[in-house]
Amino acid sequence: MKCISCGTAMKTKRENYHYVESGLPHVSLESIDVSRCAGCGESEVAIPAIEDLHRVIAESLIQKRSRLAPAEIRFLRKYLGWSGTDFAKRAGTTPETVSRWETGASPMGGASDRLLRLLVVTKTPVNDYSVDALAEIEVDRSPRPMRLGLTRDRKGGWRPRSGRDFVTA
Ligand SMILES: [Zn+2]
Repeated sequence: MKCISCGTAMKTKRENYHYVESGLPHVSLESIDVSRCAGCGESEVAIPAIEDLHRVIAESLIQKRSRLAPAEIRFLRKYLGWSGTDFAKRAGTTPETVSRWETGASPMGGASDRLLRLLVVTKTPVNDYSVDALAEIEVDRSPRPMRLGLTRDRKGGWRPRSGRDFVTA
């Protein structure tokens, strides 16, 4: 493969990849093909089965015990395929409020946090997800984003990696 910027041949390596494009700060993907150009530093990443990946991330997020962090609210809203206005209508609030939840300017309340999780379950029924888990969500005023490592499963999709924190390159 040649670099689209300068034409130098790129070298491809398997790396653990910090998936910043998700908008989430601590999501790492195991064994991703990353092509780098020694000439100009351009890089290209091939992430397979991206729909499955987003589903697995969403399912992991709704099972966290602490409140959803602002970046996680945005990820889940986009996962549902909604604009800020779409989500505001369903949550009975204004787009401005949704925007403040997603930037962290104001915390999302416990009821809205649970609503968002349930909307995700409505989109893709999650195995072993009990609504009783909603009783376990902690009250924390500045929730931290989840650390999540993902690896390929045997069917070519994705699964959360056990021993969740692993180091990215
Ligand atoms: Zn280049």
